[in-house]
Amino acid sequence: MIPITKPFLPPLSSYQSLVKGVFESGHLTNYGPLATQLEKEIAGLSKVPNVLLTGNGTIALQIALKAIKKRGKIITTPFSYVATSSSLVWEGYEPVFADIDPETFNLNPDSVIECMNDEIVGIVPTHCFGNACDIDAFEEISKQWEVPVIYDAAHCFGSKFKGESLFRFGTLSITSLHATKIFHSVEGGAIFSMDESIIESLSYMRNFGHFGPEGFVGLGINGKNSDFHAAMGLSILPFLDEILKVRKSQAGLYREKLSHLPVKFQAVTPYCESNHSYFPVIFESSDALTRVKESLEANGIYPRRYFYPSLNLLPYVQRKFEVPAAESISRRVLCLPLFHDLKSEEQGLICELVERNVES
Ligand SMILES: *Cc1c(COP(=O)(O)O)cnc(C)c1O
Repeated sequence: MIPITKPFLPPLSSYQSLVKGVFESGHLTNYGPLATQLEKEIAGLSKVPNVLLTGNGTIALQIALKAIKKRGKIITTPFSYVATSSSLVWEGYEPVFADIDPETFNLNPDSVIECMNDEIVGIVPTHCFGNACDIDAFEEISKQWEVPVIYDAAHCFGSKFKGESLFRFGTLSITSLHATKIFHSVEGGAIFSMDESIIESLSYMRNFGHFGPEGFVGLGINGKNSDFHAAMGLSILPFLDEILKVRKSQAGLYREKLSHLPVKFQAVTPYCESNHSYFPVIFESSDALTRVKESLEANGIYPRRYFYPSLNLLPYVQRKFEVPAAESISRRVLCLPLFHDLKSEEQGLICELVERNVES
C-alpha cells in the first residue's frame, strides 16, 4: 500500500529523551519549556520575531482573524483546504471567492481587485502547496484599501520568497504543524507577524484572555499546545533540511518521468523556492483523472484530489461565485503520493500507471 502521505517520524530515542524530561518536570502544558523552545526555534528559523505556537493550524487562523476587529466580508481562495473557508464562516465572516491563477493555483490579484469594495475587511489567500502568492501585488492591495492580508501558509514550512521565509509576509501568517504537513508536531500550528503589537494582543486570546491568574484583558479561547507535541516537533527539527532535500529530488523525479505526458504541473511563482510539500498533477479532463486514480487504487496506491470540490461550492456558502479557473483546476487535479520514505521504485510504478491510463 502506498498512501498519499506518511508522517515523518524521528528516532524514537530522541522523542523519548525529551518526553522523559516532561515526566520529570511534570510541566505537561501551559507554556512548558519544550513548547517555549519550539516557538523560539521556529521564530529563529523563519526570522519572524513574533510567533505564537498553537494547538493546530485551524485555531491559529481563527485567532488571527480576530486581529481584523471588524465585521464584514473577506476575500479568499476557492482552491485550498476546507479549513481556510470554514474558519472564516466559523468566525462570522462572509467569504467572497475571487478566482485563482490556473498556473500557480494561488489567488489571482486582478480577480481580488475586481471583488474589492467597502464591505471587504480582509483578504485570506493560501500559498497553495507551498508556492508563494503574488506577495507584492497583495501588499499593494492591502495598502491601497487598508485591509489586512492574512496568509494561510499551512503548507509553507521551509518555503521561501526572495530568499526569506514565507511566514514573514502579510499582516499575519499562519501555519499548520499537523502530522501530514512537511514539518509537524503531531497536532500544532503557529501564528506569525512582523508586528509585535498584533501578536501581543493575540497572545492573550490564545490563553482565554488571561492577564495573570485573576485578570482578563478580553475574550479568549484555548489555543495552546502541549510539551508532548513540542517534543515531537523538536525531535523532527534537526531533520528539516534533509526532509526538504529529499522532497525536492522526489518532485524532480516525478516531473522528469511525467513531463512527456498530457499533464500539467504547478508553475512556481517567480522568486519563490517551494518546499515541494505536495505533487499536484493537472489532467486534461476529469475523465483522465478518474481513469488514473482508479488504476492507482486498484494497485494499492492512494492519491488524493487536493483540492476538490472548489470551496465556493461548499453547502454553507449561499452565494454563487464565478470562479472558472478554480472549478476547472479542482476537477482535474490529483496529488500523487509524496512522503520522506517514498522510494524511487515506487515513484516509477506510480508514473508507469499514470502513463498507461492517462490517454483512453
Ligand atoms: C492543514 C491545513 C489547515 C489546517 O491545519 P490543521 O493544523 O489541520 O488545523 C489549514 N489550511 C490549509 C491550507 C491546510 O492544508
